[in-house]
Amino acid sequence: MSKPKVAFYWAASCGGCEISILDIGDRILPLSQAVDIVFWPCAMDIKYEQVRGFRDGEIDLCLFNGAIRTSENEEMAKLLRQKSKILIAYGSCSSEGCIPALANAKSRREILERAYLETPSTDNPEGIIPRTSTGVPEGELELPEFYDTVLTLDQVVEVDYYVPGCPPVADQTWALFQAVLEGKLPERGSVVGAGEKIVCEDCPLEKQDKKISGFHRPFEIIPEPGKCLLEQGIFCAGIATRTGCGAQCPSVGMPCRGCYGPPPNVVDQGAKIVSALGSIIDAREPEDVKRIIEQIPYPIGMFYRFGLAHSILRRRTINEQEN
Ligand code: SF4
Repeated sequence: MSKPKVAFYWAASCGGCEISILDIGDRILPLSQAVDIVFWPCAMDIKYEQVRGFRDGEIDLCLFNGAIRTSENEEMAKLLRQKSKILIAYGSCSSEGCIPALANAKSRREILERAYLETPSTDNPEGIIPRTSTGVPEGELELPEFYDTVLTLDQVVEVDYYVPGCPPVADQTWALFQAVLEGKLPERGSVVGAGEKIVCEDCPLEKQDKKISGFHRPFEIIPEPGKCLLEQGIFCAGIATRTGCGAQCPSVGMPCRGCYGPPPNVVDQGAKIVSALGSIIDAREPEDVKRIIEQIPYPIGMFYRFGLAHSILRRRTINEQEN
């Protein structure tokens, strides 16, 4: 009997999701015996043309990590959708946009000018900004188009399952492979490899009555060990983040950043964080609210660090001239 064919792809992301596949450790050995890995640009030499040669649906399972930042990312998402029976948005970038989608707070022009003209390390006297087509003596060179807005995978193609996490933790990745191999995947459209509660419920730190009269950045105070970080004024997204990671960050004294995305039945993680904070801020006067909230640095990066592309906001409004 032929083995299931598996593909891995890396779009706009840091590469951590690729490493997370290897994080399953020596379980990679039984996995590699149970499946045929037919496409994995990070680990094997294969060309897009060979993927175009697969029959539609020939790939049994595709783990697609990374957001859609360029026309190449979108083209590969559509190609892999066509060639795959099961397409999984693997990791926070493809599920929700993650760090790449924080660029949605800027216009494309602002991003390109910052990266290619303004940074202190830039040496670009002619002020050249990448373009999709450049003539050289040998012919025309082409680059993918850099989109103005980062999109999630399900904003360009239909997605069968979502695996959250930045990156997904190894046991959850392994559980996903087992579910696929044993034919035990849940209903299409489900989040797999995650829990159903919020991180606070898995967090071992002692919780009392949450009342916050001010916020501190982690380097500004030495928190009391064993006690809830949020109650000590360190912003922690565990109050509005799905379980699945085992509360790894707060367990070692680092606040949850929210990478497992919103809990079940919550559409917008940032809005949920705002609403949760609203109920625990210890303010008596409207000025207290303003003073306390202003202590949160870069709110969009705190509330929407992982979910801006998939949120109700999606991006900052820009006009034609700005772009
Ligand atoms: Fe929740 Fe964070 Fe407090 Fe742990 S430290 S209980 S995750 S708010």
